[in-house]
Amino acid sequence: MKRRDFIQQATAGTALVSLGSFGLQSFSLSIKTSKITILHTNDVHSHIDAFGPEDGRNANKGGVARRASLIESIRKENPNTLLLDAGDIFQGTPYFNYYGGELEFKLMSKLKYDAATIGNHDFDNGIDGLYAQLPHAKFEFISANYDFSNTIMDTHVKPYKTFKKGHIKIGVFGLGIELDGLVDPSMFKETKYLDPIEISQDMTRILKEEEQCDLIICLSHLGYNYRNSETKIGDLNLATATKNIDLIIGGHTHTFLRKPTIVKNLENKNVLVNQVGCYGINLGKIDFYFDANQNKAANGTSIIV
Ligand SMILES: [Zn+2]
Repeated sequence: MKRRDFIQQATAGTALVSLGSFGLQSFSLSIKTSKITILHTNDVHSHIDAFGPEDGRNANKGGVARRASLIESIRKENPNTLLLDAGDIFQGTPYFNYYGGELEFKLMSKLKYDAATIGNHDFDNGIDGLYAQLPHAKFEFISANYDFSNTIMDTHVKPYKTFKKGHIKIGVFGLGIELDGLVDPSMFKETKYLDPIEISQDMTRILKEEEQCDLIICLSHLGYNYRNSETKIGDLNLATATKNIDLIIGGHTHTFLRKPTIVKNLENKNVLVNQVGCYGINLGKIDFYFDANQNKAANGTSIIV
């Protein structure tokens, strides 16, 4: 590919955002640039079929089959792709009422999801109902701030997972929302909720310093932002209050962003925050570029399925 064509292709969509301590001016796209693609969904809520033609706003959108072919074509274009889900996989259609989540997990496995975090609705058949479906999931569940040690889920959920794509090491950790007041305690039993900011500080230290990750992603079901954001933590204040996170993939508030929101973190570096609404209508796509000097830049967009 010619350098000019490469740059045009690389910067298609939203503007490129610098993620390191260097500005974009020191970022040089070239043939040596590595590209990592992050695809993501959230709050799919058991929507397996596409919306029908009579469904006003969402007519003929969504559906696992179309999502599958879209993902396949993106993976073909860039094999260095990760597919992530930010929780609330369960609840919303009769598929969940009849099969208890088996179909959702089996289809996500077929689509080769790499990891998912746990949303409040994933406890809708109780923690035992979630546990019962785990054999159908060929992907990892990650949550760093739910302490499951006194529950049946103990050892079945990891705080984080690392992936190697090309020569780039990616660390992904999960965060869940406070269940108290949102889910009946008989459903989540002895699941303990830990402070998401404190946990993020631990996670980013481990992923950056011990695991030496080049790219750090937080898979969050905290919600995008709250009016009482002083007391209720959402993805935007999480981004501001932490460092070394490059991307926060959100869920829960069903917030549709056409492109990622850029937030400055504790060190005044850019963090991308994205969320793609709900029901599998959109697929988030964020491309990260690493130049020969390991400078990082990114751009992203939401694709209608
Ligand atoms: Zn939720």
